[in-house]
Amino acid sequence: MHPTRLAPSFVGLALTLTASACSSKAPTPVATPTPTDVANPLPTDPAAPPAPGSTTTLAALGLDPTAMDRSADPCDDFYQYACGGWIARTEIPADKPAAMRSFIDIEDRNQEFLHGVLERARSTPGGDPLMATLGSYYGACMDEAAVEAAGVAPLAELDAVIAKVKDGKTLADATAALHAVGASALFTFGQVQDAKDARQVIGGLDQGGLGLPDRDYYLKDGLAEKGLRKAYHHYLASLLVLDGKSEADAAKAADQVIAVETAIAKVSLDKVVRRDPVATYNRLERAGVQKAAPHFAWDRYFAGAGVPDVAAITVASPAFLKGLDKLVTTTKPEAWRTYLRVHLLGAVAGLLPKRFDDAQFAFIGMLTGQAEQEARWKRCVAATDGALGDLTGQVFTRERFSAAAKQAAEGQVHAISDAMRANLDALPWMDEATKEAARAKLDAMTYQIGYPKAWRAPMIAIGPGYAANALAARRAERARLLAKIGKPLDRDDWQLSAPTVNAYYEPALNGMVFPAGILQPPFFSPTASAQVNLGGMGVVVGHELTHGFDDQGAQYDAQGNLKNWWAKATGDEFKARTQCVIKQYDAYEAVPDVHLNGANTVGENIADIGGVKLALRAARALRSGAPVVADGFTEDQQFFLGFGQAWCAKFRPEIAALLATVDVHSPAQWRVNGSLQATPEFGEAFGCKAGAKMRPAQMCQVW
Ligand SMILES: [Zn+2]
Repeated sequence: MHPTRLAPSFVGLALTLTASACSSKAPTPVATPTPTDVANPLPTDPAAPPAPGSTTTLAALGLDPTAMDRSADPCDDFYQYACGGWIARTEIPADKPAAMRSFIDIEDRNQEFLHGVLERARSTPGGDPLMATLGSYYGACMDEAAVEAAGVAPLAELDAVIAKVKDGKTLADATAALHAVGASALFTFGQVQDAKDARQVIGGLDQGGLGLPDRDYYLKDGLAEKGLRKAYHHYLASLLVLDGKSEADAAKAADQVIAVETAIAKVSLDKVVRRDPVATYNRLERAGVQKAAPHFAWDRYFAGAGVPDVAAITVASPAFLKGLDKLVTTTKPEAWRTYLRVHLLGAVAGLLPKRFDDAQFAFIGMLTGQAEQEARWKRCVAATDGALGDLTGQVFTRERFSAAAKQAAEGQVHAISDAMRANLDALPWMDEATKEAARAKLDAMTYQIGYPKAWRAPMIAIGPGYAANALAARRAERARLLAKIGKPLDRDDWQLSAPTVNAYYEPALNGMVFPAGILQPPFFSPTASAQVNLGGMGVVVGHELTHGFDDQGAQYDAQGNLKNWWAKATGDEFKARTQCVIKQYDAYEAVPDVHLNGANTVGENIADIGGVKLALRAARALRSGAPVVADGFTEDQQFFLGFGQAWCAKFRPEIAALLATVDVHSPAQWRVNGSLQATPEFGEAFGCKAGAKMRPAQMCQVW
């Protein structure tokens, strides 16, 4: 199972279309460089919080009163009340699919900072080896003339492997070669912790090989799905024309590719079924994989992947493997070659001349509503962070991550953990033995804040060719990860770079990770009040902790093993409460007529509701003496405003509809209103009448 992240990655979102989720981010050519040596400063922090018992202003606590819409009724739509002013005045930048007061604004600031660092590194060669490596990688990415001159030559070796595809053996060779550079093809294979013994690292085989973001886009026939298939066809054909085919041949070839993908989609599991970690754990082992799909040359695939001896393998869906095997024999070699070629081009379009990137962006823009491609420097900063995250992380944390932030975040983790313990003690629906197991899980839960324990040295030598560098970096990272199979587990290997604005909980590690990138306003500011920080970062911490006990996390024990620790009756009660949350969110709309998928988002929604509950409990426990009143707002109200304002967002309708289909998170509006509609203290704090929208008669309470 994959770890659950706090939010979808907006930068990487579009790339999941063509590159496998594990590959490093690939930027794409366009635009002129905008060098700057000055890092963007953090927004001005408010003055030190006032003493208990005093009156103060919202601004002094770290809230933005101008972001509010006081004409809205907080009991009817609190999100509008907390964020309406911000929403009214904010325009989504042309080069973004969305605007967000937290994630995207913080990401912009972090990116501006790294931009300054990388431009300095690039213009002053020599000296510090860390800076020299960063400067070379970034510099090669920025050298558009060299990228244009290189053309598709960097793909020659991969092309040769694809050109040889004629049977299950050569198909296996090409699949391994494509996986190594992050291209999606046929299925996915990687290293995973063994769900039944989390200390072991084994091979994990899963479905994959699609170009559109979800199987639904191939199998459903609504207007949106049809429209997207048409645009996708156009995109594939445009890539093939650039690759030298005539318009007519390219259109036929695109038909072939979509036919292959549709066949793959038909044997793929639905995303809601895939949420079940028991159903997706099938230790077929190598012999079983061979038996399920005998026409694909697994020996050659594993040898090509650099793990010729891998034996321990779990398969998410044995039925998928069987279906794929049939495709191996029934699909014409020519169709496989076109499929592989176009998947390769999609995965590396950002490393190639502008015409390839433009073709890809035309499709991404349609999917997300983004009007303009991001400036090249932004994509090069993201690419450098993706390939050399342990180097950017060192510079970022040295200059942008204070000891105070680390200390405060640690304090929050302890406070939230205490709140969960107290909450467990008081939980009316759980029997004592199950509570004891839950406490053991909570006690064993680990956390890491800011940056990993050790920095890894870069694994590649950087040359002048950008595509060559990026392909080498992808191959090296893939080899590093696959080499973990059969070795003792390394608990400290992060899945996000330190500057990343996100956080995650990994059930197999029973551990949380909060990179330095997210510990910034409006989530956290060293000078904002504790109530506001707990409404922002505290809810994030509570959210991650609750993932340990969501519909999936609850199936893993303290050691990260997939093991049922629930008494039967309590487990049934947990499922009934989970159903309540599914129904609650099913009723919400992402955009008019597009409802949320309550079952797909239930883990995130349970975590959101739990996050608010735990952070509020921690916020109340911190109060002492007479309450602080800010512009007439009580401390509970300040906490809720801190929470609401950390999620102010504005999405283009295209990406809102896309995310409603594929994302496991609810949209910002429902992350705020949905969780508060399940929080009795909210209605009390704002004096909402019983039965008001934000104080419904029935509230879904899991934790
Ligand atoms: Zn989450």
